[in-house]
Amino acid sequence: MERKPHILVFPYPIQGHINPILQFSKRLTSKGLRVTVITTTSISKSMQESSLNFVTISDGSKQGDKETMYEELERFKLFVSESLAELIERQKSSKHPPKLLVYDSAMPWALNVARQLGVDGAPFFTQSCAVNVIYHHAHHGVFLQRPSVSLPYMPSLGVNDVPSFLNDTGSSLPLKIALNQFSNIHEANWIFCNTFDKLEHEVVNWMASQWPVKTIGPTIPSIYLDKRLEDDKEYGLNLFKPNVDTCMKWLDTKEIGSVIYASFGSLTTLGEEHMEELALGLKNSSCSFLWVVRESEEKKLPDNFIEETTERGLFVTWCPQLDVLAHKAIGCFMTHCGWNSTLEALSLGVPMVAMPQWTDQPTNAKFIADVWKVGIRVKLNEKGIATREEIEMCIREVMEGERGKEMKKNSLRWKELAIEAVDKGGSSDKNIEVFVAKLAHS
Ligand code: UDP
Repeated sequence: MERKPHILVFPYPIQGHINPILQFSKRLTSKGLRVTVITTTSISKSMQESSLNFVTISDGSKQGDKETMYEELERFKLFVSESLAELIERQKSSKHPPKLLVYDSAMPWALNVARQLGVDGAPFFTQSCAVNVIYHHAHHGVFLQRPSVSLPYMPSLGVNDVPSFLNDTGSSLPLKIALNQFSNIHEANWIFCNTFDKLEHEVVNWMASQWPVKTIGPTIPSIYLDKRLEDDKEYGLNLFKPNVDTCMKWLDTKEIGSVIYASFGSLTTLGEEHMEELALGLKNSSCSFLWVVRESEEKKLPDNFIEETTERGLFVTWCPQLDVLAHKAIGCFMTHCGWNSTLEALSLGVPMVAMPQWTDQPTNAKFIADVWKVGIRVKLNEKGIATREEIEMCIREVMEGERGKEMKKNSLRWKELAIEAVDKGGSSDKNIEVFVAKLAHS
């Protein structure tokens, strides 16, 4: 019997990295690879039934540790590199020695660990290729300390369009980590990017001229796209508990295209004043809205707001986002422009109101509004806040305006192209096939 090539896959354990990397792992499994996903003790409590094989390694976290994500990544570099090396050693002497480690690009040291033990390595980038290319150039000192970015294969980006860390003054740990993704990229055997060729055509071409890049996205279960593949509905691994029935039953009672879905992902927080403006912008728009307000954010809602808007608003602490975006009642997505949320809305044909906050979100918002033309970006006042009037106006523009119709048309076109990319013979599907075939013969 022919042996399936075995690979290890190691996502950094936060929601926006787990979802695409696990979905990619499932695609690889369906194409004939044996995949073992590495998780760390910090998320082992959230583990649920899955069609994937998991192995947990220690990350050295202690109860009560209060670290930022970036401090945690630094600790991982010290502590997890040891537990990763032990795991690879063990796996090498098992019945199925791994051929490759696919690791989250946020942990570039994982490549060195694998290489020292004679295993190949490939980073998985969970951000857009435009953002990859910007960070790569910044890693080489290009346009750092400059207010704008001008590269031949993308639109000119102003100070508010570049990833926020580039505007950090002084030494910034997040910037260091963002740029370090490119510190050893030239040594990688493959580079996986969660995007598709037609979405970022020129940038992907440029990256592919430098490195062995494979675009493999969008990593969304086919059941939400064209249902042609036998994917299950399970998407990634939920670190938050979704209110599934509440959301779906409520959406079923709403008219087609009548609801705003508002969510700011798993990490972004808004200040109290911003929360109030958003709340009133949603309320004044006169539309129904489903708003994900994570537990940690609930206290920032204006007093009595939930009670006052029960007729039109539904508040949940987490929702099944793909089911929500795919629901016919959704008319627009008010989003922080995390890369997964952006790709998910694009691939499901939902126009956006972009309200980016930090990291790569401003760049994604620029592309949403000016390149793909599938949304409108809120303007900020001198205090850096989108006012209720601005939010209401943007929502009305997308939900009711002429431009909104154009955005919907463009969104549906992107949806078709996303499906084409992952369909049999599409660019992302072919890239995965080529990779699997090469691995099988290596
Ligand atoms: N998500 C979800 N339910 C929610 C909010 C978000 O399932 O209520 C998922 C969403 O589908 C996406 C991920 O969480 O896959 C968030 O990733 P993104 O890159 O958009 O933002 P981040 O959380 O990394 O800022």
